[in-house]
Amino acid sequence: AYRLAGKKVFVAGHRGMVGAAIVRRLAQEGCDVLTATRKELDLTRQADVEAWMEDRRPDAVFLAAAKVGGILANDSYPAEFLYDNLILEANVIHAAHKVKVEKLLFLGSSCIYPKFAAQPIVEEALLTGELEPTNEWYAIAKIAGIKLCQAYRKQYGDDFISAMPTNLYGPGDNFDLTSSHVVPALIRKAHQAKIDGLPELTVWGTGTPRREFLHVDDCADACVHLMKTYSGEGHVNVGLGEDVTILELTQFVCRIVGFEGAIVHDLSKPDGTPRKLMSAAKLRALGWSPRIGLEEGIADAYRAFLDGEYVERL
Ligand code: GDP
Repeated sequence: AYRLAGKKVFVAGHRGMVGAAIVRRLAQEGCDVLTATRKELDLTRQADVEAWMEDRRPDAVFLAAAKVGGILANDSYPAEFLYDNLILEANVIHAAHKVKVEKLLFLGSSCIYPKFAAQPIVEEALLTGELEPTNEWYAIAKIAGIKLCQAYRKQYGDDFISAMPTNLYGPGDNFDLTSSHVVPALIRKAHQAKIDGLPELTVWGTGTPRREFLHVDDCADACVHLMKTYSGEGHVNVGLGEDVTILELTQFVCRIVGFEGAIVHDLSKPDGTPRKLMSAAKLRALGWSPRIGLEEGIADAYRAFLDGEYVERL
């Protein structure tokens, strides 16, 4: 097992939802957490990343930095989703190799899998079929990141591993309606509809796609678990092994927020991939299972929304 206690641990992307959750979780590990804001360190600049890593010399790295967004953002900004992600992960992974980082965990996404992969999706389904076109740019960058970790392991023996989380939600999420993922979008829309007394709430697409949702604190806990216990070449899915339809999710969010109006569909918006349920078997076999159920998790995300930006806007 890899010990984090007493180590210098760099969390790249600590202002993002996942990076922030990893920083919170690392408070229990007795390590020295290193972070850098975008102003202090632009991860897309190779020379800057190498200089920063040579100066700070982290022992371990959680690579949680990424350009992320929901289905519409991915579809609208393919160049940024491919370029920014490729360049920043290449910079961090290569610099980690150069300064002999002992252990690195790269975070990807469930969208790396083929659009029509058999469900639940096992890790071996990677690169067995066509990707979902709305997010293939992001997916290609994340697949390259997995391969980069594998390449450094194969050629140099670097202990670089990859975790592929399912759709995440929770505190620190992006609540911008054009670029966010579905959970924060629905929380915001349901809340707004409730306080404005609107008769209905609009959901994108048919409501029939199925998705799996994991609270970000569970994801962070799984990442720390993998960092401490896993050293394999293959990536590991981080999910809970259960999914719901977007309509079920919407009804759920409406109940938690207390919006009682109707749910209508905007069919001009994309559905994306029909189903994206990952197999959680490998992670469970490695000794980890989730603790936060969807109801408790969404209630927590709603609380974070109320505590955060929405209140500031009023
Ligand atoms: P995906 O998992 O990569 O498809 O990303 P999203 O979380 O953005 O979308 C998941 C599903 O929720 C898709 O079928 C969307 O069409 C649907 N959806 C329904 N309403 C919304 C919304 O208001 N915002 C977003 N982002 N997705 C929505």
